[in-house]
Amino acid sequence: TSYANEHNRIHSDKLLDGLVASGFEKVSCISRFDSYLYRKASPHKPSQYLISKLRNYEDLHRKCGVHTKAYKRTMVKLVRSKNHNAGTVCKYLVWTPVNGLGNRMISMAAAFLYALVTDRVLLVEFQSDMVDLFCEPFPNSTWILPKDFPFRNKYAHIETYQNMLKKDKGNGSKEIVPSVMHLNMQHTFNDPKKLFHCNHSQDLLQQVSLLILQSDQYFVPSLFMTPSFNPELNKMFLKKDTVFHHLGRYLFHPSNEAWGLISRFYQTYLANADERIGLQIRVFRPDHTPHQRVMELLLSCTLKNKLLPELDKQNFITSISKNQTLKVVLLASLYRVYGDNLRTMYLSEPTVTGEMIGVCQPSHEEHQKFHDNRHNMMAWTEIYLLSMSDTLVTTSLSTFGYVAQGLGGLKPWLLYRIVGNETHNPACERDISMEPCFHIPPKYNCEGKAMEHLGLLYPHMRKCVDYSSGIKLI
Ligand code: GDP
Repeated sequence: TSYANEHNRIHSDKLLDGLVASGFEKVSCISRFDSYLYRKASPHKPSQYLISKLRNYEDLHRKCGVHTKAYKRTMVKLVRSKNHNAGTVCKYLVWTPVNGLGNRMISMAAAFLYALVTDRVLLVEFQSDMVDLFCEPFPNSTWILPKDFPFRNKYAHIETYQNMLKKDKGNGSKEIVPSVMHLNMQHTFNDPKKLFHCNHSQDLLQQVSLLILQSDQYFVPSLFMTPSFNPELNKMFLKKDTVFHHLGRYLFHPSNEAWGLISRFYQTYLANADERIGLQIRVFRPDHTPHQRVMELLLSCTLKNKLLPELDKQNFITSISKNQTLKVVLLASLYRVYGDNLRTMYLSEPTVTGEMIGVCQPSHEEHQKFHDNRHNMMAWTEIYLLSMSDTLVTTSLSTFGYVAQGLGGLKPWLLYRIVGNETHNPACERDISMEPCFHIPPKYNCEGKAMEHLGLLYPHMRKCVDYSSGIKLI
């Protein structure tokens, strides 16, 4: 019956086509169950293989998670022998935070994929500024690194991956592999030969029991480049441009507090719109970039590409017709001037199409703040609201925008990233996939030779539209 179909549809949408495990309680994470009411079902279906990997991962996380005997036993062992190779049954990957929320979320997704392909348990170090943003992603366990984690705040005293590579003579000697290691995958301009995408490095890393990762990057393309991971990843992701879309929707469910902010804002300003347009304006060097230039860029992009209508200079009054459409622009920016200007513009004159254009901006924080939970809560709210758009315009190079596009399954229009008083034509360009860009891909192959641009060497990888030395999956 149609009722049964409807019920099945809702059931499958609720659990995101099998991505999300059954058995979660609703009260502790309402968004996990209700988000389907707010978005169209994703046209991208996860593979059965990915789903089975996730279910197996959840079992592993339960078996080795922080409240288990296995975890306690492993930590005792590692404290005793952190510099020596100590085989342990449970292996861990600890994610540590650097930079803004967008950077953190893309690197957490990459870390999770790395944990999936290396059978490690992912634990995340959330300081007070990230508490209560997300629900627990894994059933009947936690991913939060416990307060009494024995290596907390001692990362400077831990053997590094770079140091291991220095000692490595290529003979796979176990003596060089410690059981606890710090792995820095952060953005650096002097790119040492990281060789992270090579089987040999991964064979060494696989022997490390506890890896502490420091990264602000979406290093997923590196994993696809690693020969020993590639077949598995190809089975998990039949379409390569859906990696963040699936993993992001699996991992990042807004906490009840965040969901309250998101759902109230949506119901108040967005639910009744015929079309929703997300506009993300990130100004990287505000002191050097006049608002006027940014505003021109934004209008040039949205008007030329007909994302927003031109103003009708001939008439003063919009004639009332029955099927008048309302487009609502959700504007995310640290500065209120963009939302104010756009709203005033569309209230001052009618549009040539007769459409009504509403403009709402949830916050204007003025500058990026660190160690501030409420600030991050707003950032997460806005990222999520942007992801609920029908059309998305983001700023080049901004990981804040990457998360929104990935969660929403949207290929955004990328605004050119202006710095200073310049203009740019075209003002924006359509992205080639919804995946985040990996800004610092490997430059050397496993023999240590400089590589040509990777977009030419690997299938399903291309130069990023917004950053030509970066790479992304398509
Ligand atoms: P990126 O620097 O653009 O790649 O993005 P990140 O998210 O890593 O860092 C920027 C940080 O600045 C965000 O996490 C927020 O804390 C803040 N921020 C930047 N733009 C906005 C915005 O439009 N809205 C809000 N609420 N915060 C923003």
